[in-house]
Amino acid sequence: MPAVAEILIPLALDTAYSYAVPPGLTLAEGDVVQVPLGPRETVGVVWGLDERASGGNLRPVTGRIEVPPLSEPLRKLVDWLARYTLAPKGSALAMALRLPDEGAQRENPRIGVRASGRPPARQTAARGKVLAVASDGAVRGKSALAKEAGVSVGVVDGLIDDGALETVALVPEPVALPPNPDHPRVPLSDAQRDAAHDLIAAPSPASAPAEAGGTILLEGVTGSGKTEVYFEAVAECVREGRQALVLMPEIALTAQFLDRFAGRFGVRPATWHSGIGGKRRERIRAGVASGDVSVVVGARSALFLPFNRLGLIVVDEEHESAYKQEDGVHYHARDMAVVRGRLEGCPVVLASATPSIESRVNAQSGRYRHVSLPGRFGGRPLPDIKAIDMRLDKPERGRFLSPPMVNAVKATLEAGEQALLFLNRRGYAPLTLCRACGHRYQCRNCSTWLVEHRFRRALVCHQCGYAERKPEACTECGAFDHLTPCGPGVERIAEEAAELFPDKRIVVLSSDFPGGAERLRQELETVAAGECDIVIGTQLVAKGHNFPHLTLVGVLDADIGLTTGDPRAAERTFQLLQQVTGRAGRGERPGRALVQTYQPDHPVIAALLSGDAERFYEEEIAAREAAGLPPFGRLAALIVSAEEREKAEAHGQALARAADPPPGVMVLGPAEAPLALVRGRWRFRLLVKTERGIDVQSYLRDWLARGPKPRGNLKVAIDVDPQSF
Ligand code: ADP
Ligand code: ZN
Repeated sequence: MPAVAEILIPLALDTAYSYAVPPGLTLAEGDVVQVPLGPRETVGVVWGLDERASGGNLRPVTGRIEVPPLSEPLRKLVDWLARYTLAPKGSALAMALRLPDEGAQRENPRIGVRASGRPPARQTAARGKVLAVASDGAVRGKSALAKEAGVSVGVVDGLIDDGALETVALVPEPVALPPNPDHPRVPLSDAQRDAAHDLIAAPSPASAPAEAGGTILLEGVTGSGKTEVYFEAVAECVREGRQALVLMPEIALTAQFLDRFAGRFGVRPATWHSGIGGKRRERIRAGVASGDVSVVVGARSALFLPFNRLGLIVVDEEHESAYKQEDGVHYHARDMAVVRGRLEGCPVVLASATPSIESRVNAQSGRYRHVSLPGRFGGRPLPDIKAIDMRLDKPERGRFLSPPMVNAVKATLEAGEQALLFLNRRGYAPLTLCRACGHRYQCRNCSTWLVEHRFRRALVCHQCGYAERKPEACTECGAFDHLTPCGPGVERIAEEAAELFPDKRIVVLSSDFPGGAERLRQELETVAAGECDIVIGTQLVAKGHNFPHLTLVGVLDADIGLTTGDPRAAERTFQLLQQVTGRAGRGERPGRALVQTYQPDHPVIAALLSGDAERFYEEEIAAREAAGLPPFGRLAALIVSAEEREKAEAHGQALARAADPPPGVMVLGPAEAPLALVRGRWRFRLLVKTERGIDVQSYLRDWLARGPKPRGNLKVAIDVDPQSF
């Protein structure tokens, strides 16, 4: 009597489906199988098995697929992810089951041949040619040998059958060489050694009391040597024969990091991100599952790899908003890393110079252990940070660099050092206005202004990518010479810098850099090598990079991020400004930073200037607590979107009428989302704010179950713990 298997299918389905297990097929939970679904065959994972049930009238499982099964902790992570984010369980499974692209070929084991020394039973001219080539004893592929001898592959096959050639399996190149934890390396400072010791001594959650947990916040200013410290924990993990995962926010730009890893461990680690192709992806998955790959450095999706003996997770730059996935399953990779660590019984290290408020609060309350590094490595001073009050030190008309900024750049260049001008705005100008009729150029799909990109000679929407040629005359009133760029982007700053310093080498670094990621990487290397005088960049240059010749950082508009209505605006701005000013003086010479601002007394700017991060954290944590904002209360957002504005708004209102919030829950809205129109869809938002102890997921589930159901092109997206609003 066939048993029944519950198969979870990686589609937007909430539950597993029942199938019969055909006789002769032995299945275990976690196995990847092929099953019929409607008229098609699809892939699924065994989520449950009932040996005693009768699958008599159920459709049978087609068969097992030879890919690594999903371990129990990984299956629990999928369950957890679905429950927490309210995503369909099948969608959560899809994250853990990134199979090779359809059409990507499975790799066949490669076979090589060489002469065996036995003479063939029958000799021909063609056979003679093959044996002459093979007489050197080298191993060649069959077709390579045939080609070299100028004969068909059939001749080679005949010699194999005859025993004159023998076959050898070619060992495929490993996907990553094993890192050597005891590779010769720089000695650690005392502070680093202590911190590394603290990390390694981390009690695993299994042995620790429930409250202590296995999560550690590793905090230290930029340049304090955190990377070297967590490398020790990685080394220890490898020594114990376990696997380590290092998560990075922007994997495409970490060439420097991979070199450092190679410096510490002798080889580069396996890397994982969405750009990795089907075949390689499958090999890494297989290597991770078998344990052959011991360290993976990856973007957030690496969290769902089938590690079989995970011993450590590091989340570098844990405060980064890039860890939050904002489409599909809305999850935060830092939080999921903590969950996976708990399920695997392994420690999780969150590293940052500017931790998130959430992690800081968890460290203070004792839920996370707190390990700190004092000051910069080698006693290098932190940059001296000063404000330029833009109300007093005005730039010339049509300019954006104030006189003190210009002087500082000049002095830096005269000393043979490098300057970075930071402005978090891509393109030439964020707004184009017709001075004759007042028309402003707006995206046709989104509620955004079009940004002029002079290099591309286009007006571009940064939301949806829509672009149009910049017109000669106003498209509204026809006036010539009246289209005026308003405000600066990095391209405009570059133009100003080129006029001020005509014989200096200037480079603009933003995600618009022509030539793609590889060219950008090369350019970052030339900057690091000092082959450039002035760098003008967006947040792309704020993080992670080490520019040893850089001694001046000029922040051109420190106030940009402070004026949004977002409750995380202060935290974000503080983190970004700390990071970017921290780029200065990481080499031999000390650095300084100048910050142009209209609000030098704003708490964020004041904390930055005083170098008193502690004060910022205290004030911000107190403010969040008073307002009941995360992590002292909980937030979730429902985004209703549709092609017609009225439809989205009406559905939002109908949802609000069905909200029926219990005590401790507040439902706000619907209100137009901050970006009301994106890619042709109107968006309205409902915000749920609850007290800390409330189970926001079960409230949302009940609410959506009794509320109106979306129809047609209308969609409702759920975002638990939204990062911006
Ligand atoms: P963080 O990750 O805290 O920003 P890093 O680990 O990048 O700091 O270290 C900052 C700089 O100091 C890097 O250039 C690094 O090579 C150097 N450094 C860190 N630790 C050591 C050490 N023990 N010996 C020599 N150089 C070190
Ligand atoms: Zn647009």
